[in-house]
Amino acid sequence: MTDRIVTRFAPSPTGYLHIGGARTALFNWLYSKHTNGTMLLRIEDTDRERSTDAATAAILDGLSWLGLEWDGEPISQFERAPRHREVAEELVAKGEAYYCYTTPAELDAMREKAKAEGRPPRYDGRWRDRDPAEAPEGVRPVIRIKAPQEGETVVYDRVQGEVRFPNKDLDDFIILRSDGTPTYMHAVVVDDHDMGVTHIIRGDDHLTNAARQTVIYKAMGWDVPVMAHIPLIHGQDGAKLSKRHGALGVEAYRELGYLPAALQNYLARLGWSHGDDEVMSLENMIAWFDIDDVNKGAARFDFDKLTALNG
Ligand code: GLU
Repeated sequence: MTDRIVTRFAPSPTGYLHIGGARTALFNWLYSKHTNGTMLLRIEDTDRERSTDAATAAILDGLSWLGLEWDGEPISQFERAPRHREVAEELVAKGEAYYCYTTPAELDAMREKAKAEGRPPRYDGRWRDRDPAEAPEGVRPVIRIKAPQEGETVVYDRVQGEVRFPNKDLDDFIILRSDGTPTYMHAVVVDDHDMGVTHIIRGDDHLTNAARQTVIYKAMGWDVPVMAHIPLIHGQDGAKLSKRHGALGVEAYRELGYLPAALQNYLARLGWSHGDDEVMSLENMIAWFDIDDVNKGAARFDFDKLTALNG
């Protein structure tokens, strides 16, 4: 018997549940149901300035209205900060990460130099092999991971295929800030690992993050979950979806009297094509859904089609 599949939906509570987020949640939910697995919910509330309780409530509410129930209690990423710190320290102890005391002025100089040389700014690794005893007074360090410098990092993605990232483009990125808070890159890896997530299904705007996250998994000696980066939703004009395309938050459709089934059906078709335009029952969606059938090209949002499905 294979291990149970665990997916997750990990929204940042900085606004209502938008169409793109709802589609990501739906794909995670369908895949967990299809495989008789579990879908967990993690609220990525680490950014204290932008996260609000009202947004968290709106997201939970939107998911429930759409019938996308998660398993267990929602997990707050912010509350896991001590664990994120612990893993960052562990990486230092293992020699996979290091304290970096580079000052803001030095970082500025690095950026200026890169600009003058016409290349993207990269941290130059100056504290990689330096003794922390040489640390300047009063500078609180960040923790940086030792990213591989040669070869490539490969992301094996169920939607995008094998995606190769030259390691020379990955600098020693920050995993823990000087105030002890984790970066998004680090928190996501620690949480997905600890939550036993086996499949990460999310928007392809996170694909380049997947390379950096793979570096953290490898440094910890953890298994990299199966990745599936789904193409973002665009409007009919090919531009990234926005309010201008009639792409409102889930909440707004509810208020306008749309039925959850219509939205479910419509969202399921955004990037996953199964058959023609028949209305699918939830049972059929669950039975038919597979990540391998998710399209590689961007999905196009069509407000009229959604309205037609609403009957
Ligand atoms: N919190 C991120 C977002 O809302 C998603 C992170 C992830 O799925 O890994 O875009």
